[in-house]
Amino acid sequence: MADSVMGVFGGTFDPIHFGHLRTAHELLKALSLSEVRFLPCGLPPHRARPVASAPERLAMVGVALEGQQGFVLDDRELERDGPSYSVDTLESLKQDFPDTALCLIVGMDAFLGLPRWHRWQRIVELAHIVVAHRPGWRVPYRGPLGEILRERRSRQPQELRGVDAGRIYVHPVTQLEISSTEIRDLIRSGNDPRFLLPEKVRERISQSGCYSRSH
Ligand code: ATP
Repeated sequence: MADSVMGVFGGTFDPIHFGHLRTAHELLKALSLSEVRFLPCGLPPHRARPVASAPERLAMVGVALEGQQGFVLDDRELERDGPSYSVDTLESLKQDFPDTALCLIVGMDAFLGLPRWHRWQRIVELAHIVVAHRPGWRVPYRGPLGEILRERRSRQPQELRGVDAGRIYVHPVTQLEISSTEIRDLIRSGNDPRFLLPEKVRERISQSGCYSRSH
């Protein structure tokens, strides 16, 4: 049995916003995680190229996490070439933290794509999956995901401590209907994204102009 349980939160974070941060905070507390590690991805395998550059996204996550206890920035996905596959990230974290159980944190929208993820069966050997409820998404009961959930779903967070990997836990988080896409669209159309993301991130965006430029 692992000594501690760590949250692993990957994303494009283009930009990071309060939907990400509040979710991580609520899971940190509810699951008594030792920490939540934020891993901005380099090249996301399942979606379009991010708008802001990798160093810009890393810097935005950095300022958002500054002084926040229990939140850790991890740049390992940006150090690797090629697409950022979660399975490679988890293998690498497992090597660094062999005595820690890993909980891969995903929103429900991301979880619905799990059967298409690169080597997803290996992912559930390396980590638990913690699914955060997002507005407008429902827990699947049918298809391959319904089956995975029937086999692996834990109803109590304590069950994530008994084994090191392989459980799926769905946790409702405060529904903040914020997305990076919405923030980028607001900025591109000349509106202020104030109160949707940390002030320091907003300031960085207005200094760098990373979402105002036409791409
Ligand atoms: P985009 O609008 O560009 O698709 P996003 O806002 O969904 O971006 P990502 O960086 O792609 O942000 O998301 C990283 C992870 O955070 C994903 O697992 C996603 O489901 C989750 N997430 C994003 N926004 C929220 C939110 N408002 N509440 C809960 N989880 C969220």
